[in-house]
Amino acid sequence: MVLCKGGFIIMKKTPVIFTGHGSPMLAIDENDLTREMQRVGTDVLTSEDRPKAILAISAHWYVPGTYIQSAEKPRQIYDMYGFPEELYQLQYPAKGCPKLTQDVCQLLGNAVSIDDSWGIDHGTWSVMVHMFPNAPIPVVQLSVDSLFTPDQCFALGQKLAPLREEGYLIWASGNIVHNLRRVEWNKRGGSEAAKHFNQDIVDNVTKGNLDAVIHYENHEHAAYAVPTPEHYLPLLYCLGAAGTDKATPFNNTCTLGSMAMTGFVWA
Ligand code: ZN
Repeated sequence: MVLCKGGFIIMKKTPVIFTGHGSPMLAIDENDLTREMQRVGTDVLTSEDRPKAILAISAHWYVPGTYIQSAEKPRQIYDMYGFPEELYQLQYPAKGCPKLTQDVCQLLGNAVSIDDSWGIDHGTWSVMVHMFPNAPIPVVQLSVDSLFTPDQCFALGQKLAPLREEGYLIWASGNIVHNLRRVEWNKRGGSEAAKHFNQDIVDNVTKGNLDAVIHYENHEHAAYAVPTPEHYLPLLYCLGAAGTDKATPFNNTCTLGSMAMTGFVWA
């Protein structure tokens, strides 16, 4: 989007958003976390540069390759087991956006393929029901490539950055700390290791110490916080797309011992 201000032409960019998602129960919760998601979403929906579509990168589409959806009406998938029936009845009727699919294919060339075998998964809809209720903006999911190194995730995010000038929102869902084996069901906050790792990542993201965020494996608590990379890597796609924009954290909190719900808006 182009703005003309005092004779200068300024390219307006949509923000980049990373959000924590945690348990799928989040979708039917109403608490401080979901209210904050709603606030972040309302800011986007009421801005004069409301995005025309969202490129959503979910930890739950973690496959060997970079894939993008093309369906005009992507199906919603319930990729979780053993939760209350209410959760499987929840609808998030997002439309697709063939133009966004086409623009991503044009940007990435051979590095991306179309794949409609997946759908809008709970990493996306469990947050979007709060952030963008009733799916007012089309959503296209992009996979997290399981063959990528953290550096490659960051580099792919950089390649996606021009979409922001076209009015598309780059949005990703995962968790900075996500260790299901170490979950403490009765703990409201985080363990010392979770809090330490989360706060160091928050500090490094907000200060622009990108190397420390990308090479998180060097952190003393990395094995605990990120035992498998799929929930962490969506953050690196965002970091690449955000460039030098300032990051503002939201929901900077840990829960269940080994889970961080922290998100960022870059604008
Ligand atoms: Zn998840």
